[in-house]
Amino acid sequence: MGLCPDCGRPASECGSEQYMVQTRVCGPSAAVDQWRKDNKNPPPGVVLSTVKVKAAVDSPAVQTAPEWWLRKHGYIE
Ligand SMILES: [Zn+2]
Repeated sequence: MGLCPDCGRPASECGSEQYMVQTRVCGPSAAVDQWRKDNKNPPPGVVLSTVKVKAAVDSPAVQTAPEWWLRKHGYIE
């Protein structure tokens, strides 16, 4: 009983069962993919790394914003 050349599972298994596709999104990979899409010709030597984007609510701009601004932009009710 050989292995399926397409999926690598035993041929008996992949020919007799039903399968569905599962997807998930990797945030850092998505960011790199988007960057590559937006930067078609990056200069030589550019190395990509990913960092977590800080939530806007944690930023100094929001932390020091006046109350009317926070209300206007939905940070407080
Ligand atoms: Zn297969």
